[in-house]
Amino acid sequence: MSEKPRHAPLIQFPIVDDELVIGDMPLTRLAEQVGQTPFYAYDREAMSRRVRDLREVLPTDISLHYAMKANPMPTVVDHMASLVDGLDVASLGELRVALGSGMDPAEISFAGPGKRDQELSAAVAAGITVNLESPGELERIAVAGERLGITPRVAVRVNPDFELKSSGMKMSGGPKPFGIDAEQVPAALARIGELGLHFRGFHIFSGSQNLKAESLIEAQDASFELAYRLADDAPAPIEVLNIGGGFGIPYFPGEQRLDLTPVSENLAQRLDTCRSRLGDSEVVIELGRYLVGEAGVYVCRVIDRKISRGQTYLVCDGGLHHHLAASGNFGQVIRKNYPVVKADAVNDGPRETVSVVGPLCTPLDLLADRMELGTAGPGDLIAVLQSGAYGYTASPHLFLSQPAAVEVLV
Ligand SMILES: *Cc1c(COP(=O)(O)O)cnc(C)c1O
Repeated sequence: MSEKPRHAPLIQFPIVDDELVIGDMPLTRLAEQVGQTPFYAYDREAMSRRVRDLREVLPTDISLHYAMKANPMPTVVDHMASLVDGLDVASLGELRVALGSGMDPAEISFAGPGKRDQELSAAVAAGITVNLESPGELERIAVAGERLGITPRVAVRVNPDFELKSSGMKMSGGPKPFGIDAEQVPAALARIGELGLHFRGFHIFSGSQNLKAESLIEAQDASFELAYRLADDAPAPIEVLNIGGGFGIPYFPGEQRLDLTPVSENLAQRLDTCRSRLGDSEVVIELGRYLVGEAGVYVCRVIDRKISRGQTYLVCDGGLHHHLAASGNFGQVIRKNYPVVKADAVNDGPRETVSVVGPLCTPLDLLADRMELGTAGPGDLIAVLQSGAYGYTASPHLFLSQPAAVEVLV
Protein backbone atom coordinates (compact mmCIF):
# COMPACT_ATOMS: atom_id res chain seq x y z
CA MET A 1 0.00 0.00 0.00
CA SER A 2 1.31 3.46 -0.87
CA GLU A 3 1.90 5.90 1.96
CA LYS A 4 -0.56 8.70 2.55
CA PRO A 5 0.56 11.96 0.90
CA ARG A 6 2.09 14.34 3.43
CA HIS A 7 2.58 18.07 3.66
CA ALA A 8 5.92 19.37 2.39
CA PRO A 9 8.39 19.74 5.26
CA LEU A 10 8.09 22.96 7.22
CA ILE A 11 11.09 25.17 6.47
CA GLN A 12 10.19 28.72 7.39
CA PHE A 13 10.07 28.51 11.18
CA PRO A 14 12.29 26.83 13.72
CA ILE A 15 10.71 24.27 16.01
CA VAL A 16 12.16 24.35 19.52
CA ASP A 17 10.97 21.88 22.17
CA ASP A 18 8.36 20.81 19.62
CA GLU A 19 6.92 24.34 19.54
CA LEU A 20 6.75 26.72 16.58
CA VAL A 21 9.00 29.74 16.96
CA ILE A 22 7.85 32.86 15.12
CA GLY A 23 9.96 36.00 15.16
CA ASP A 24 12.32 34.42 17.70
CA MET A 25 9.51 33.74 20.17
CA PRO A 26 7.73 30.48 21.05
CA LEU A 27 4.20 30.78 19.71
CA THR A 28 2.46 30.39 23.09
CA ARG A 29 4.51 33.32 24.41
CA LEU A 30 3.89 35.35 21.27
CA ALA A 31 0.15 34.80 21.80
CA GLU A 32 0.49 36.37 25.25
CA GLN A 33 2.35 39.32 23.75
CA VAL A 34 -0.29 39.80 21.06
CA GLY A 35 -2.90 39.71 23.81
CA GLN A 36 -5.71 38.06 21.89
CA THR A 37 -6.62 35.22 19.63
CA PRO A 38 -7.19 34.83 16.76
CA PHE A 39 -4.26 36.57 15.16
CA TYR A 40 -2.02 36.48 12.15
CA ALA A 41 1.72 36.68 12.76
CA TYR A 42 4.14 37.46 9.93
CA ASP A 43 7.83 36.85 10.39
CA ARG A 44 10.04 39.64 9.07
CA GLU A 45 13.16 37.49 8.97
CA ALA A 46 11.38 34.72 7.04
CA MET A 47 10.45 37.28 4.37
CA SER A 48 13.98 38.65 4.20
CA ARG A 49 15.38 35.15 3.91
CA ARG A 50 12.96 34.29 1.12
CA VAL A 51 13.95 37.33 -0.93
CA ARG A 52 17.65 36.69 -0.28
CA ASP A 53 17.38 33.04 -1.36
CA LEU A 54 15.39 33.98 -4.42
CA ARG A 55 17.90 36.61 -5.50
CA GLU A 56 20.65 34.08 -5.09
CA VAL A 57 19.04 31.75 -7.62
CA LEU A 58 17.61 34.29 -10.09
CA PRO A 59 19.79 36.05 -12.68
CA THR A 60 21.11 39.23 -11.06
CA ASP A 61 19.66 41.59 -13.63
CA ILE A 62 16.05 40.49 -13.05
CA SER A 63 14.04 43.02 -11.06
CA LEU A 64 11.83 41.69 -8.32
CA HIS A 65 8.50 43.33 -7.52
CA TYR A 66 6.15 42.60 -4.65
CA ALA A 67 2.48 42.23 -5.63
CA MET A 68 0.87 43.82 -2.59
CA LYS A 69 -2.52 42.21 -2.74
CA ALA A 70 -1.00 39.01 -1.36
CA ASN A 71 -0.47 40.82 1.94
CA PRO A 72 -1.12 44.55 2.07
CA MET A 73 -0.56 45.04 5.81
CA PRO A 74 1.29 48.39 5.85
CA THR A 75 4.21 47.26 8.01
CA VAL A 76 4.64 44.17 5.84
CA VAL A 77 4.66 46.38 2.76
CA ASP A 78 7.22 48.69 4.37
CA HIS A 79 9.42 45.71 5.09
CA MET A 80 9.00 44.25 1.61
CA ALA A 81 9.70 47.66 0.08
CA SER A 82 13.12 47.56 1.73
CA LEU A 83 13.86 44.19 0.07
CA VAL A 84 12.47 44.37 -3.48
CA ASP A 85 12.91 46.65 -6.49
CA GLY A 86 9.31 47.71 -6.91
CA LEU A 87 5.72 47.32 -5.78
CA ASP A 88 2.64 46.32 -7.76
CA VAL A 89 -0.66 47.69 -6.51
CA ALA A 90 -4.20 46.79 -7.47
CA SER A 91 -6.21 49.69 -6.01
CA LEU A 92 -5.94 53.25 -4.77
CA GLY A 93 -5.95 51.92 -1.21
CA GLU A 94 -2.88 49.80 -1.98
CA LEU A 95 -1.29 52.71 -3.83
CA ARG A 96 -1.48 54.88 -0.70
CA VAL A 97 0.24 52.18 1.35
CA ALA A 98 2.86 51.68 -1.38
CA LEU A 99 3.65 55.40 -1.49
CA GLY A 100 3.79 55.46 2.31
CA SER A 101 6.48 52.79 2.25
CA GLY A 102 8.85 55.25 0.62
CA MET A 103 9.19 53.18 -2.56
CA ASP A 104 10.18 55.33 -5.53
CA PRO A 105 6.96 56.01 -7.51
CA ALA A 106 8.88 55.20 -10.69
CA GLU A 107 9.06 51.61 -9.39
CA ILE A 108 5.36 51.28 -8.57
CA SER A 109 2.88 49.89 -11.08
CA PHE A 110 -0.88 49.60 -10.92
CA ALA A 111 -2.74 46.70 -12.54
CA GLY A 112 -6.35 45.63 -12.22
CA PRO A 113 -9.54 45.87 -14.24
CA GLY A 114 -12.06 48.57 -13.41
CA LYS A 115 -9.77 51.36 -12.29
CA ARG A 116 -11.96 54.34 -11.44
CA ASP A 117 -11.26 57.82 -12.78
CA GLN A 118 -10.05 58.92 -9.31
CA GLU A 119 -7.66 55.97 -9.24
CA LEU A 120 -6.28 56.83 -12.67
CA SER A 121 -5.87 60.49 -11.66
CA ALA A 122 -4.16 59.49 -8.42
CA ALA A 123 -1.78 57.24 -10.33
CA VAL A 124 -0.95 60.00 -12.81
CA ALA A 125 -0.44 62.53 -10.01
CA ALA A 126 1.82 60.10 -8.16
CA GLY A 127 3.88 59.42 -11.28
CA ILE A 128 3.50 55.65 -11.11
CA THR A 129 3.03 53.33 -14.10
CA VAL A 130 -0.47 52.22 -14.95
CA ASN A 131 -0.85 48.86 -16.62
CA LEU A 132 -3.69 49.44 -19.05
CA GLU A 133 -6.37 46.79 -19.07
CA SER A 134 -8.58 48.03 -21.92
CA PRO A 135 -8.85 50.55 -24.75
CA GLY A 136 -11.45 52.42 -22.66
CA GLU A 137 -9.03 52.78 -19.77
CA LEU A 138 -6.44 54.13 -22.21
CA GLU A 139 -8.81 56.93 -23.24
CA ARG A 140 -9.73 57.70 -19.63
CA ILE A 141 -6.14 57.97 -18.43
CA ALA A 142 -5.36 60.34 -21.31
CA VAL A 143 -8.22 62.58 -20.10
CA ALA A 144 -6.84 62.44 -16.54
CA GLY A 145 -3.37 63.39 -17.80
CA GLU A 146 -4.81 66.29 -19.83
CA ARG A 147 -6.74 67.59 -16.82
CA LEU A 148 -3.69 67.41 -14.53
CA GLY A 149 -1.19 68.63 -17.09
CA ILE A 150 0.97 65.55 -16.41
CA THR A 151 1.96 62.95 -19.00
CA PRO A 152 0.64 59.56 -17.83
CA ARG A 153 3.14 56.72 -17.66
CA VAL A 154 1.54 53.61 -19.10
CA ALA A 155 2.33 50.02 -19.88
CA VAL A 156 0.06 47.69 -21.78
CA ARG A 157 -1.12 44.67 -19.91
CA VAL A 158 -1.48 41.98 -22.53
CA ASN A 159 -4.03 39.20 -22.40
CA PRO A 160 -1.83 36.60 -24.08
CA ASP A 161 -2.97 34.07 -26.61
CA PHE A 162 -1.57 31.28 -24.41
CA GLU A 163 -2.25 30.12 -20.87
CA LEU A 164 -0.09 29.09 -17.93
CA LYS A 165 -0.57 25.34 -17.56
CA SER A 166 -1.06 23.64 -14.17
CA SER A 167 -1.77 26.98 -12.60
CA GLY A 168 -3.83 27.34 -9.44
CA MET A 169 -5.63 30.29 -10.98
CA LYS A 170 -5.60 30.91 -14.72
CA MET A 171 -5.36 34.54 -15.61
CA SER A 172 -4.87 34.47 -19.37
CA GLY A 173 -5.72 32.80 -22.66
CA GLY A 174 -9.23 33.11 -24.10
CA PRO A 175 -11.60 35.91 -23.16
CA LYS A 176 -10.58 37.67 -19.93
CA PRO A 177 -11.41 40.84 -18.01
CA PHE A 178 -7.64 41.34 -17.55
CA GLY A 179 -5.44 43.03 -20.09
CA ILE A 180 -5.83 43.92 -23.73
CA ASP A 181 -6.10 40.93 -26.07
CA ALA A 182 -2.77 40.40 -27.82
CA GLU A 183 -4.43 40.92 -31.22
CA GLN A 184 -5.80 44.34 -30.11
CA VAL A 185 -2.47 45.52 -28.74
CA PRO A 186 -1.08 47.06 -31.98
CA ALA A 187 -4.09 49.41 -32.18
CA ALA A 188 -3.68 50.34 -28.51
CA LEU A 189 0.01 51.06 -29.06
CA ALA A 190 -0.80 53.33 -32.00
CA ARG A 191 -3.32 55.18 -29.83
CA ILE A 192 -0.77 55.62 -27.01
CA GLY A 193 1.55 57.20 -29.59
CA GLU A 194 -1.20 59.49 -30.92
CA LEU A 195 -2.16 60.66 -27.43
CA GLY A 196 1.49 61.29 -26.52
CA LEU A 197 1.45 59.15 -23.39
CA HIS A 198 4.73 57.97 -21.90
CA PHE A 199 4.90 54.35 -23.05
CA ARG A 200 6.83 52.18 -20.62
CA GLY A 201 6.40 48.64 -21.89
CA PHE A 202 4.43 45.44 -21.49
CA HIS A 203 2.95 43.50 -18.61
CA ILE A 204 2.23 39.85 -19.31
CA PHE A 205 0.84 37.98 -16.32
CA SER A 206 -0.32 34.50 -17.12
CA GLY A 207 -1.19 32.85 -13.83
CA SER A 208 -0.65 32.16 -10.18
CA GLN A 209 0.28 29.40 -7.70
CA ASN A 210 2.32 27.24 -10.06
CA LEU A 211 4.57 24.51 -8.66
CA LYS A 212 5.81 23.13 -11.98
CA ALA A 213 9.06 24.51 -13.34
CA GLU A 214 8.28 23.29 -16.88
CA SER A 215 5.00 25.21 -17.02
CA LEU A 216 6.62 28.38 -15.74
CA ILE A 217 9.41 28.07 -18.29
CA GLU A 218 6.91 27.54 -21.08
CA ALA A 219 4.88 30.59 -20.03
CA GLN A 220 7.98 32.76 -19.68
CA ASP A 221 9.27 31.70 -23.09
CA ALA A 222 5.89 32.49 -24.62
CA SER A 223 5.83 35.87 -22.82
CA PHE A 224 9.20 36.90 -24.23
CA GLU A 225 8.18 35.84 -27.75
CA LEU A 226 4.92 37.72 -27.46
CA ALA A 227 6.72 40.83 -26.25
CA TYR A 228 9.16 40.71 -29.19
CA ARG A 229 6.26 40.44 -31.62
CA LEU A 230 4.32 43.30 -30.03
CA ALA A 231 7.40 45.51 -29.71
CA ASP A 232 7.39 45.98 -33.50
CA ASP A 233 4.38 48.26 -33.09
CA ALA A 234 5.53 50.07 -29.95
CA PRO A 235 5.57 53.89 -30.12
CA ALA A 236 8.78 54.01 -28.06
CA PRO A 237 11.50 51.67 -26.74
CA ILE A 238 10.41 49.03 -24.23
CA GLU A 239 11.66 50.36 -20.90
CA VAL A 240 10.06 47.61 -18.85
CA LEU A 241 8.98 44.07 -19.61
CA ASN A 242 7.03 42.59 -16.73
CA ILE A 243 6.75 38.86 -17.34
CA GLY A 244 4.51 38.14 -14.34
CA GLY A 245 5.42 35.51 -11.80
CA GLY A 246 3.14 32.76 -10.71
CA PHE A 247 5.66 30.99 -8.45
CA GLY A 248 3.67 28.78 -6.08
CA ILE A 249 4.18 27.43 -2.57
CA PRO A 250 3.16 23.98 -1.32
CA TYR A 251 -0.10 24.04 0.61
CA PHE A 252 -1.55 20.55 0.44
CA PRO A 253 -0.46 16.97 1.11
CA GLY A 254 1.57 15.57 -1.76
CA GLU A 255 2.66 18.95 -3.17
CA GLN A 256 6.36 19.43 -3.81
CA ARG A 257 8.28 22.65 -3.47
CA LEU A 258 8.89 24.48 -6.75
CA ASP A 259 12.40 23.88 -8.10
CA LEU A 260 13.57 27.27 -9.31
CA THR A 261 16.93 26.20 -10.68
CA PRO A 262 15.68 25.29 -14.19
CA VAL A 263 13.44 28.37 -14.24
CA SER A 264 16.40 30.54 -13.45
CA GLU A 265 18.71 28.87 -15.97
CA ASN A 266 16.15 29.36 -18.68
CA LEU A 267 15.63 32.99 -17.67
CA ALA A 268 19.34 33.69 -17.91
CA GLN A 269 19.34 32.49 -21.52
CA ARG A 270 16.18 34.42 -22.29
CA LEU A 271 17.67 37.61 -20.88
CA ASP A 272 20.55 37.36 -23.32
CA THR A 273 18.17 37.14 -26.26
CA CYS A 274 16.01 39.88 -24.77
CA ARG A 275 18.95 42.27 -24.72
CA SER A 276 19.53 41.75 -28.41
CA ARG A 277 15.83 42.04 -29.26
CA LEU A 278 14.64 44.83 -26.95
CA GLY A 279 17.83 46.63 -25.93
CA ASP A 280 18.34 47.32 -22.26
CA SER A 281 14.75 46.87 -21.08
CA GLU A 282 14.31 46.15 -17.40
CA VAL A 283 12.82 42.66 -17.00
CA VAL A 284 10.56 42.36 -13.98
CA ILE A 285 9.13 39.40 -12.14
CA GLU A 286 6.23 40.19 -9.86
CA LEU A 287 5.45 37.88 -6.98
CA GLY A 288 3.06 37.98 -4.08
CA ARG A 289 2.42 34.60 -2.56
CA TYR A 290 5.93 33.23 -3.07
CA LEU A 291 7.51 36.10 -1.14
CA VAL A 292 5.23 36.20 1.89
CA GLY A 293 2.99 33.14 1.89
CA GLU A 294 5.24 30.90 3.92
CA ALA A 295 6.20 33.65 6.35
CA GLY A 296 2.83 33.85 8.09
CA VAL A 297 0.69 31.82 10.46
CA TYR A 298 -2.89 32.16 11.58
CA VAL A 299 -3.38 31.30 15.21
CA CYS A 300 -6.62 30.52 17.01
CA ARG A 301 -7.54 29.00 20.34
CA VAL A 302 -9.60 25.91 21.08
CA ILE A 303 -12.83 26.83 22.85
CA ASP A 304 -14.51 23.46 22.97
CA ARG A 305 -13.74 19.87 22.28
CA LYS A 306 -16.57 17.58 21.37
CA ILE A 307 -17.11 14.12 20.02
CA SER A 308 -19.92 13.58 17.56
CA ARG A 309 -20.64 10.00 16.52
CA GLY A 310 -17.04 8.99 16.92
CA GLN A 311 -15.45 12.07 15.33
CA THR A 312 -13.54 14.53 17.50
CA TYR A 313 -13.98 18.24 16.86
CA LEU A 314 -11.83 21.05 18.15
CA VAL A 315 -14.05 24.12 18.02
CA CYS A 316 -11.94 27.28 17.83
CA ASP A 317 -12.37 31.02 18.16
CA GLY A 318 -11.22 31.55 14.57
CA GLY A 319 -12.14 30.14 11.21
CA LEU A 320 -13.38 30.85 7.73
CA HIS A 321 -14.22 34.51 8.42
CA HIS A 322 -10.51 35.23 9.01
CA HIS A 323 -9.01 32.59 6.77
CA LEU A 324 -11.23 31.73 3.86
CA ALA A 325 -8.44 30.00 1.93
CA ALA A 326 -7.69 27.48 4.69
CA SER A 327 -11.37 26.59 4.83
CA GLY A 328 -11.09 25.57 1.18
CA ASN A 329 -13.45 28.20 -0.18
CA PHE A 330 -11.00 30.49 -2.00
CA GLY A 331 -10.58 29.01 -5.46
CA GLN A 332 -10.23 25.33 -4.48
CA VAL A 333 -12.18 22.73 -6.39
CA ILE A 334 -11.67 19.81 -4.01
CA ARG A 335 -11.13 20.81 -0.39
CA LYS A 336 -7.73 19.83 1.04
CA ASN A 337 -6.13 20.59 4.37
CA TYR A 338 -3.60 23.35 4.83
CA PRO A 339 -0.76 22.37 7.15
CA VAL A 340 -2.29 22.78 10.61
CA VAL A 341 -0.54 22.01 13.92
CA LYS A 342 -1.03 22.31 17.63
CA ALA A 343 1.37 25.19 18.32
CA ASP A 344 3.39 23.43 21.02
CA ALA A 345 3.16 19.83 19.77
CA VAL A 346 4.28 20.04 16.18
CA ASN A 347 5.80 16.60 15.72
CA ASP A 348 5.87 14.68 18.98
CA GLY A 349 3.74 13.60 21.92
CA PRO A 350 0.33 11.93 21.83
CA ARG A 351 -1.51 12.41 18.54
CA GLU A 352 -5.09 12.01 17.47
CA THR A 353 -7.20 12.52 14.39
CA VAL A 354 -9.47 15.54 14.76
CA SER A 355 -11.38 18.07 12.74
CA VAL A 356 -10.65 21.70 13.53
CA VAL A 357 -13.66 23.94 13.02
CA GLY A 358 -14.48 27.59 13.64
CA PRO A 359 -17.35 29.24 15.51
CA LEU A 360 -19.53 29.96 12.47
CA CYS A 361 -22.87 28.24 11.91
CA THR A 362 -21.92 26.72 8.59
CA PRO A 363 -20.31 23.41 7.68
CA LEU A 364 -17.93 25.42 5.46
CA ASP A 365 -16.16 26.70 8.57
CA LEU A 366 -13.55 23.97 8.61
CA LEU A 367 -9.81 24.55 9.14
CA ALA A 368 -8.73 20.90 9.20
CA ASP A 369 -10.73 17.89 8.15
CA ARG A 370 -9.81 14.69 10.03
CA MET A 371 -6.15 15.54 10.42
CA GLU A 372 -3.60 14.06 12.78
CA LEU A 373 -2.62 16.66 15.40
CA GLY A 374 -1.05 16.74 18.83
CA THR A 375 -3.83 16.00 21.32
CA ALA A 376 -5.50 19.30 22.18
CA GLY A 377 -8.34 20.73 24.23
CA PRO A 378 -9.79 24.05 25.38
CA GLY A 379 -7.16 26.77 25.78
CA ASP A 380 -4.66 25.20 23.39
CA LEU A 381 -3.38 27.09 20.36
CA ILE A 382 -3.86 25.85 16.81
CA ALA A 383 -1.67 27.28 14.06
CA VAL A 384 -2.45 27.27 10.36
CA LEU A 385 0.79 27.50 8.41
CA GLN A 386 1.38 28.93 4.90
CA SER A 387 -0.89 31.81 5.86
CA GLY A 388 1.15 34.88 4.98
CA ALA A 389 -0.61 35.49 1.65
CA TYR A 390 -4.28 35.80 0.72
CA GLY A 391 -5.24 35.34 4.36
CA TYR A 392 -6.94 38.04 6.36
CA THR A 393 -7.70 40.55 3.63
CA ALA A 394 -9.01 37.78 1.37
CA SER A 395 -11.57 36.69 3.99
CA PRO A 396 -15.16 37.75 4.82
CA HIS A 397 -14.46 39.32 8.26
CA LEU A 398 -17.97 40.56 8.77
CA PHE A 399 -19.65 37.20 8.26
CA LEU A 400 -21.56 36.31 11.43
CA SER A 401 -20.39 39.44 13.29
CA GLN A 402 -17.52 37.66 14.99
CA PRO A 403 -14.65 39.68 16.51
CA ALA A 404 -11.87 40.73 14.17
CA ALA A 405 -8.45 39.10 14.11
CA VAL A 406 -5.31 41.18 14.62
CA GLU A 407 -2.22 41.10 12.45
CA VAL A 408 1.31 41.51 13.75
CA LEU A 409 4.68 41.63 12.08
CA VAL A 410 7.36 40.18 14.31
C1 LIG B 1 -2.31 38.74 -7.98
C2 LIG B 1 -1.31 39.19 -8.92
C3 LIG B 1 0.03 38.89 -8.71
C4 LIG B 1 0.51 38.06 -7.57
O1 LIG B 1 0.24 36.72 -7.75
P1 LIG B 1 0.91 35.66 -6.74
O2 LIG B 1 0.36 34.36 -7.15
O3 LIG B 1 0.50 36.07 -5.37
O4 LIG B 1 2.38 35.76 -6.90
C5 LIG B 1 0.94 39.37 -9.60
N1 LIG B 1 0.57 40.12 -10.64
C6 LIG B 1 -0.72 40.43 -10.88
C7 LIG B 1 -1.08 41.25 -12.06
C8 LIG B 1 -1.71 39.98 -10.05
O5 LIG B 1 -2.98 40.27 -10.28
